[in-house]
Amino acid sequence: MQQAALRAAGVPLRYDAMDVLPADLASTLAMLAAEGAAGNVTVPHKERVAEACARVTAVARRAGAVNTFWVEDGLLVGDNTDVGGFHNAVVQLRGAAPDHALIGVIGAGGAAAAVLTAVAAWAGCEARIWNRNEPRAAGLVARFPGVAALARSPADAVARAALVVHATTIGMGTDDMPLDPAALPPGADVLDLVYRPGETTWVRAARAHGHRACDGLPMLVEQGALAFERWLGQPPDRAIMRSSLSA
Ligand code: NAP
Repeated sequence: MQQAALRAAGVPLRYDAMDVLPADLASTLAMLAAEGAAGNVTVPHKERVAEACARVTAVARRAGAVNTFWVEDGLLVGDNTDVGGFHNAVVQLRGAAPDHALIGVIGAGGAAAAVLTAVAAWAGCEARIWNRNEPRAAGLVARFPGVAALARSPADAVARAALVVHATTIGMGTDDMPLDPAALPPGADVLDLVYRPGETTWVRAARAHGHRACDGLPMLVEQGALAFERWLGQPPDRAIMRSSLSA
């Protein structure tokens, strides 16, 4: 996706994937900083890269994770474009960001933290969180006082929600669903952060139950496009990014 955008913009840079073991992260970051590189970070390194950066944006600090980095004066700078990518995907789905609404969130990992960072910026919105590992959900909720509350069950998290967000790995490459679509409140919009060719089973099921729903593809494109803008100061061709993913 990034390589297709770079090529379309006529930027002679290469975007390469690096498989980095946790034990090699510090030395890899030092090498990237020395080279003046820029890039993205994914699971499981986002939190540790946030700690390793000399400077992070306010959004990355709030999310506690970095998914986008670059180098300024030889020092690593980190941002979190999952937050803006999620926000833009919600706006694409609903036409506008939620306003004084309840958001149901399933999951409590890094993606859920990005979701809560976005929710915290929406006027009068609150999120109810459920996660398999409850202490992890409680820890996340504690980081967002006045914005997030702990739910007792998945059904409790989504009850009366205007928007339901799935932020676990359930459904990645399988037909498993995080929640019975019949348990979704009437009229709720559904955003699954998971993506797979042909959409996730849960998104298709939610739509069959009458909900507006989309998977994680729009967020993937948006977080990548925002990263491209951070690195190069110009917007990429989003249509080319999107079509490269289905090529
Ligand atoms: P993470 O930090 O590793 O968190 C994983 C989450 O999944 C935790 O809530 C974990 O719950 C839950 N989980 C894993 N296996 C589970 C299972 N069998 N049953 C129930 N819950 C399970 O990962 P992350 O970064 O938050 O990513 C979560 C998902 O979001 C991934 O699918 C990722 O691809 C997607 N994502 C998409 C985008 C996008 O651009 N569309 C961006 C970021 C992330 P426990 O705490 O109980 O283990």
